[in-house]
Amino acid sequence: MPCGECTACCTASYFIHVEPGETQTLARIPAELLFAAPGLAAGNVLLGYDKHGRCPLLVAGKCSIYEDRPLTCRSYDCRVFAAAGIAADRDLITQRARRWRFDYRTSADRDQQAAVQAAAEFLRERAACFPGGAAPDNPAQIAVLAVKVYEVFLEHAGEPGTSGRVASDADVARAVVRANEEFEAGRDRRGTLRA
Ligand code: SF4
Repeated sequence: MPCGECTACCTASYFIHVEPGETQTLARIPAELLFAAPGLAAGNVLLGYDKHGRCPLLVAGKCSIYEDRPLTCRSYDCRVFAAAGIAADRDLITQRARRWRFDYRTSADRDQQAAVQAAAEFLRERAACFPGGAAPDNPAQIAVLAVKVYEVFLEHAGEPGTSGRVASDADVARAVVRANEEFEAGRDRRGTLRA
């Protein structure tokens, strides 16, 4: 993630989850800054923030444990909000994310991003179509899910080049759930192959 000088997510009042296996990271964080993560197994902890919303490990505008920073920080990518065309749950992150611009090498790239945005819009506006409240309501989860299932929206039923049948919202919601399951199954297979 090319953050450059940006520290928006380090100053946005986020609790940072650190897993028990992140031993190198845990060794760098003073114990008094950590507390048990509610609802998670023992050993999972959260790093809090100060009264200004800043991570206490941000010193003179830089992460003081950068080379050992938590996995949560390494994997946070505000570009996902720009890709999905939605606001984050923090104004600061939204403003930063809106500065990203994408290159489209082909028209297919542009279509794919339009599909990601259509997926995010559907997830936000048609949450009631998902059985048992399966649609996320957190902006980060919506954006990530939109990236995972965008193919459902690439060939939207009823548009030229498809079967011509107009899908109901319930059909689309079912297709989204299926696409997410297939994505996760593929991720498990990829993980098994790597292991
Ligand atoms: S640990 Fe470092 S990268 Fe993570 S929020 Fe704190 S200052 Fe930012």
